[in-house]
Amino acid sequence: MVNPEQVNPVKDARFELWETFGLGLAYTSVRLNPAPSEIDRTEAEIAGNFSRNIRLETPIVSSPMDTVTESRMAIAMAKAGGLGVIHHGRDMDPEAQRAEVRKVKLHLNGLIESPITFTDDRTLESVLNEADDKGWHFRTFLVEDSDKKFVGIITNSHFKYANDKQMTVGQIMKPAEKVTSAPEGTTIEQAYEKLKEMDGGMLPLLTEENQIAGLYLLSDVARILNDDAAHHSVDAAGRLLTAASVSTKGTDAMDRLSVMEKYLDVVVVDTSKGNLKWARKTVKDIKENYPEIDVVAGNVSDGESTKLLVKAGADGIRVGQGPGAACETIDVTGVGVPQVTAVYNCAKAIRGEGVPVCADGGITKLRDFSTAVAAGADTIMLGSKLAATAESPSEIKIINGQQYKPYRGMGSEGAMKDSAGARDRYDGSTLAEGVEGYVPYVGSVSEVVNLYASALKNSMSTTGSATLQEHQEKTTFILEAPGAGQEGSPHDMLIQ
Ligand code: 5GP
Repeated sequence: MVNPEQVNPVKDARFELWETFGLGLAYTSVRLNPAPSEIDRTEAEIAGNFSRNIRLETPIVSSPMDTVTESRMAIAMAKAGGLGVIHHGRDMDPEAQRAEVRKVKLHLNGLIESPITFTDDRTLESVLNEADDKGWHFRTFLVEDSDKKFVGIITNSHFKYANDKQMTVGQIMKPAEKVTSAPEGTTIEQAYEKLKEMDGGMLPLLTEENQIAGLYLLSDVARILNDDAAHHSVDAAGRLLTAASVSTKGTDAMDRLSVMEKYLDVVVVDTSKGNLKWARKTVKDIKENYPEIDVVAGNVSDGESTKLLVKAGADGIRVGQGPGAACETIDVTGVGVPQVTAVYNCAKAIRGEGVPVCADGGITKLRDFSTAVAAGADTIMLGSKLAATAESPSEIKIINGQQYKPYRGMGSEGAMKDSAGARDRYDGSTLAEGVEGYVPYVGSVSEVVNLYASALKNSMSTTGSATLQEHQEKTTFILEAPGAGQEGSPHDMLIQ
């Protein structure tokens, strides 16, 4: 976050000059000045905040769009050191969104805190019926008595070989004396040591009163401990960071938060018009009811609206009205500030408040990451670039022999037809402000994220910035004169 005392006066003076001419700068309008540097690219420290309390080693966030972020994307983003915001569009009612957020939160959580249990007086038939109804793919359960004491386990083979399904669980289960258990508080590493020595793949944890306090499964524990977790985005308990979007309409935000709260670190108040009163009201309501969850609000592209959102309680600001790849807002409304000027103005308006800015939309070239940060952004948000990866929700489609993945604006006709969440984002309007189409398939999330992170490091080493904050504060801009853009990209050769 920008420290007002450290900002290079040349940077401010130039933006002020451009402002007096009414010039709005896009990513393709500017370049950054080099400076004498002692910074090796490997030393550049790029960690940045998405909100007051959420710091990301790799400050890249995936957009809450129905062709971009569901649990698979969010898990990949958090494992790459970034963050994924689970959308509230197509098919994503509050319960479905909760399930997606929960999957992310528990992905690295070896301990199942509330394992499914049955009492010993249940018949096998009733257990099997319940398991079928609820769609559980496993048939191993813990058993307790009417005093909630652990009395045994029942597994797939008990169900398979019992001829009489009217027998009770208590009659057929493996009794507690024959089950290896461990005390409440056992760590995942200790559980792994025990599980490796056992033939069964499960380890129940018990309180001193012999009640069930959790469960470790060998398959989960082995997967987690064999993962290289050093750069993952995690909470204090080592679980992946989670984020989800809500709308500004009716009771949507409260309905969603009431079911997701337990698993959520950040909520994104998602509207294309964050300058409207609904956004401020929603932020206030959330902060009053859920003070422990960080709120990122937007989208805005002017300083005054940014200040109002911070006053309403926002812990992070999402900037971008019009730059997105699938976005038609400027064509429809003619309103919106070009993105570099927008990021600069919004970040400047709240300097010293401790509230970070996310540059959302319009990131195409690798260099745009560094430009966004130098303009004042702490993170960037990507839509199309991540829709193009293996972890986005849809399948690959072959068009003319090439691999593509679907990508559509949340304000496109299709997205708005499919969900109230998308219509709400555009203030209930049914006039499309987005398009639908495809982006060329590029491979995995980690490849894309690593490319952008490397590009930022290379750039910071050339501007002499050791940290993201230094890059925000000291790096100055050049407005490209006509012709400079052409010189700055490969030219006069046949590119293979
Ligand atoms: P991208 O990274 O694809 O350039 O931009 C992603 C961003 O575009 C999203 O995070 C969101 O802010 C914005 N966006 C998504 N769908 C639409 C749309 O239909 N219309 C507009 N105006 N913006 C959109």
